[in-house]
Order: sequence, then structure tokens, then C-alpha cells
Amino acid sequence: MNLSVSTPHSSDAPRALITGITGQDGTYLTELLLEKGYAVYGTSRREPHAAERALRRQIGDAWDAGRIQLFQAELADAERIFDIVQAVLPHETYHLGAQSHVGLSFESPFETVDANARGTLAMIDAVRRIAEIQPVRMYQASTSELFGKPDVWPQTEKTPFHPRNPYACSKAYAFDVSVCYREAYGVYVCNGIQYNHESPRRDPRYVTRKITQAAARIAAGRQERLELGRIDVGRDWGYAPEYVDAMWRMLQQPEPDDYIVATNEWHPLTEFLDIAFARVGRNWRDCVDSDPRLMRPSETGRLQGDYSKARDRLGWSPRTTFTELVEQMVDADVERLRRGEDD
Ligand code: NAP
Repeated sequence: MNLSVSTPHSSDAPRALITGITGQDGTYLTELLLEKGYAVYGTSRREPHAAERALRRQIGDAWDAGRIQLFQAELADAERIFDIVQAVLPHETYHLGAQSHVGLSFESPFETVDANARGTLAMIDAVRRIAEIQPVRMYQASTSELFGKPDVWPQTEKTPFHPRNPYACSKAYAFDVSVCYREAYGVYVCNGIQYNHESPRRDPRYVTRKITQAAARIAAGRQERLELGRIDVGRDWGYAPEYVDAMWRMLQQPEPDDYIVATNEWHPLTEFLDIAFARVGRNWRDCVDSDPRLMRPSETGRLQGDYSKARDRLGWSPRTTFTELVEQMVDADVERLRRGEDD
């Protein structure tokens, strides 16, 4: 199929293709790449007008119709992905599209594998097929969930994988096939083993945003209680805009490699709750319940990442503190409620 692109290939602007452009990371990465002068192409499962609305809702004034073009695609549709890569001829591609919710992956394991495993194969195979016409540098959105239940912390790039849920298993395939194509075909691909990263743009189905949204609503008298699954868990939580900067830095290196992106700090979920509810003058112990029906069949262990390699080679370090992150998310939800934009 012949697809046309809006920014001509003769333009000086470097071209970046982002799958999952409407997601949390896709929206921040779009802003970063526009600032750096790229023409940005994105894929979404939604039809282009709906994808445009979703993206503009997050990036607001950064929207630039002359430098952004959206394509509709299912990630596992290898020919469609190839057609898009062939039309765009990107210099860089950021493969972020995924069914990224761990809990949902237990309910929809086949959809998760289609999007995450087959989807990554579709993209990396397109990058391989187009290489003679256009060498493409690829970022693959890997995850700390690969470590599952590690024996050591903090984890490094050498820590063995032990995926504990269908999401992590699908991402383990994506990691392995990326290394395979790098070694077998010389594809330039970097796996970013990113630990949890959050922001006011996090989808409300994720526990952090569920908490900050509930704190805002409870304080405003719009909700009485919050039901969570396990509360005795914790994570290494960072700030999403900093994590998309790490993605870009990886693709500027002369050789492709895999990097952990993390804060090397582990915080219990109860600390997240403490900070979030204190921000609105409440105590979470008065209004949060732990419901066994919301618990996952298996939980991960202590995921805490050593980002020294990213620091030493990419010059990347996290800057936003855990408290600043939580408070920023709560403040954004309070403000949304004030404006009547609760989602
Ligand atoms: P996200 O907000 O869930 O965005 C992913 C996007 O992928 C969605 O907005 C969706 O956009 C698209 N998508 C395509 N097929 C899908 C399917 N079958 N089910 C659900 N969504 C599908 O994720 P993110 O937080 O931006 O993360 C970006 C990438 O980094 C993902 O690959 C994620 O697994 C990985 N990662 C994230 C974190 C984190 O803490 N955020 C940590 C480690 C790794 P459309 O609906 O427009 O198609």
C-alpha cells in the first residue's frame, strides 16, 4: 500500500516514528523531539482524528500540524507496520506501543502477546527490511518487570531475568528478539530497561494515578473510599519526562546497547499513599481498603535499578525526587477537578 507523508523527505528535519504515541511516554517524547527539530510520525490503534484529539489533549500548544503525522495501525499487523516504515523512512523509531498493564495481562494474555511480542517483531523486522534504503535506529521499550523476583538489588544489566506475569513474558520475547536481530543482522536497536515512571499523564488504571486521582476526589467530597489490591508492595518510581530523554540519548550513541533507567530508590506503596493524601490534608488509613479480589496471581519482588551505566555512558541521571513526583501528580488531579476535567 502506498502511504504518503506530510513532511517531505527532502526536508532537513530528522524523522522519528513513535508507536503508541498517545500513551504517557509517547506524548512526552513527541514534545521532546519537536523541541529538538524532528518531524514526528506516530501510530495508534485509533483512527487519526481520535488519535490527534488524544495527543493534543496532552501536549496542548506543542501540537504542530506541519510536523506531526499520525497513522492508524495494530502493532501486530506486520505488513501495515512495514508500509508505515517504508513511507516514513525514519532515522529513529521509538517502539513504545504495548498492552502495558500488568494486571490486565493476566486477563488478556493473548492480546498482550500479540501487541508486545508480535508487535516488536513486526517493527524490528520492518527496520531490518528497510535497512539498505534507510538505516533506522530503534528504541525498544523494555521493562524492570523482566527481573520479576530478583535475588539481588539493585539490579544491573547483568541481573538474570525471571518474568512473573504475561506482560513481562511478552516483553522478555521483545528483548530477546531485539538482541537477536542486533547480533544476526546488525540492526541498531537499544533496549531501555525502564523502571516504573509516572506523571500526571499516567492512565488512571495504574495504581499511582488511581491514588492521586482518588486523593483529589476524596478531598473534594466527590468520592468516599479507594479500593486497591495489595498495599504491601513497592517500586522504584521515576518521572516520565526524564525517562523519554534517556530513550533519545540511547539512540545518539555510536553503538547500540541496553541500559537500565531507574532511580535506584525503592519506596513502599504506603509511602506513596502517605505523601499523596497528606498533600490534600487527609490520612489514607481512613479511606483506603485493600481488596483481595484486586490482587494479582503473582507479585514481583524488590525491583530497584542501578542506573550507573546510563549515567556513565549517556550522562543521564534522575532529577525529580519521589516526593516531588507524587505531589506534582496530586496537584495536577486537584487542578483537573477544579477545572471540571475529571477523567
Ligand atoms: P501506555 O501509556 O500504556 O501507552 C502505550 C500505548 O500503546 C497506548 O496508549 C496505546 O495507544 C498503544 N497500544 C497499542 N496496542 C495496544 C494494546 N493492545 N493494548 C493497549 N495499548 C495498546 O504506556 P507508557 O507508560 O507510555 O509506556 C510506553 C512503553 O514503555 C510501553 O511499551 C510500556 O510497556 C513500556 N514501559 C513503561 C513503563 C512505565 O512505568 N510507564 C515502565 C517500563 C516499560 P492507542 O490506544 O492510541 O493505540
